[in-house]
Amino acid sequence: MNRPDGPSREACDVVIVGGGASGLSLAHSLTATGSRAVTVVEAPGGPRRAPERTWCYWDEGTGDFDEAVCATWSRLRVHDAEGDAVTVNPSPLHYRMIRSSVFERLVHARLARSPGGRLLRATADTVRGTPDGAEVRCTTADGRTLTLRARHVFDSRPPCTLPPARTQLMQHFRGWFVRTDTARFDTRVADLMDFRVRQPCHGLAFGYVLPLTPDRALVEYTEFSRTPLTTTAYEAALTRYCGDTLRLGSYRVETAEQGVIPMTDGRFPRQVGPAVFRIGMAGGATRPATGYTFAAVQRQSRAVAAALQGGHAHVPPPHGRRALAMDAVLLRALDTGRINGPDFFTALFRRVPPHRLLRFLDGATSLREECGIGLRTPVGAMLRTAVELPFLPRRHHPAPEPKGAPDDRAARP
Ligand SMILES: Cc1cc2nc3c(=O)[nH]c(=O)nc-3n(C[C@H](O)[C@H](O)[C@H](O)COP(=O)(O)OP(=O)(O)OC[C@H]3O[C@@H](n4cnc5c(N)ncnc54)[C@H](O)[C@@H]3O)c2cc1C
Repeated sequence: MNRPDGPSREACDVVIVGGGASGLSLAHSLTATGSRAVTVVEAPGGPRRAPERTWCYWDEGTGDFDEAVCATWSRLRVHDAEGDAVTVNPSPLHYRMIRSSVFERLVHARLARSPGGRLLRATADTVRGTPDGAEVRCTTADGRTLTLRARHVFDSRPPCTLPPARTQLMQHFRGWFVRTDTARFDTRVADLMDFRVRQPCHGLAFGYVLPLTPDRALVEYTEFSRTPLTTTAYEAALTRYCGDTLRLGSYRVETAEQGVIPMTDGRFPRQVGPAVFRIGMAGGATRPATGYTFAAVQRQSRAVAAALQGGHAHVPPPHGRRALAMDAVLLRALDTGRINGPDFFTALFRRVPPHRLLRFLDGATSLREECGIGLRTPVGAMLRTAVELPFLPRRHHPAPEPKGAPDDRAARP
């Protein structure tokens, strides 16, 4: 009930805080089952609002978001540091790209059509449990305060701090949507990791090229390391990559996107109250060794919707224990420099059947298949790392400050 002088109050069944990848995916799954009154609370603008971005993932083309997919590739390529290319066909899987703005429009329209579905443009200030569910206090764009009471709240706001971890790296990158003067790209092939770029002293760096048309592509420079770079430093690396490595000739940059994705073996809590759950990156959906999140979010959203339809709220772990344990070993082996990142990833693409490798990254392989993949890695370094891991403490890692141009830093030859 609304009090004339107090904040407005409203009752809902499910509130999803944050309308990004995981919030919208959950809303999409819940409206598909049609059984829930769902409110998505999305920041109206300002620093809390996530900028437009690109989400890529692989699937067999089951068609959940076909309208939102803006590009698809049937072949994947990795270039080793010497320039040799490994091109694979992971059939029946395809690599796909979704623009967040297109995905937003799709799910917002679905919410608008769904009885009980609603998008609320407001900033969630607090989320807390109550005796009969949970409540979200928000401030709307025009400054009104509003309290939403719900049976279940799914919170996808990015965490302010990361959980204590043994190893914490960052996948940090900047990408340019470039248009070239002549046809320069093969639109059938996505370059996942191009190690022909200069490697930093710590961690690894690679180029990533997603062709959209013969003269247009998303070209990214990415590092896995402890500290993000300044925008100037990414731009310098991209200029070198487009010019010296890709030899694009004359091109113009249409738009850019930049991001930092935590790669950590910290444990993210998924339930923080009887009726309050964390989803998405905040709930540990980011695969530590790769940064891929979108596919895990889809699996999780479908499972949450099925559980709610069955009458109970449950958020299953986004990744299995074995996958997390293997990722912890890989992160530590990269962080200590015991393995050479470019050699490691190129060897995986060279030696493991591509369909199996992608299923492995989805956590869908058997123990036997994983042992087979393990044997194609530097076994000694990985075993040594696996043995020492349980004895290392988990600790908070300080938030890293962006660093200057890669040119200015000492670089591995
Ligand atoms: C630039 C970039 C590219 C990426 N590319 C890929 C990729 O290709 N493939 C992949 O698998 N992963 C990718 N990732 C990683 C991951 O998939 C994304 O970060 C993804 O957006 C995470 O989803 P999420 O729902 O956890 O968070 P977000 O998508 O960031 O959603 C959180 C939402 O909460 C909102 N919000 C924040 N605070 C409040 C508040 N107080 N009140 C209300 N709303 C709030 C934000 O506006 C945002 O919409 C990428 C990440 C970045 C940064």
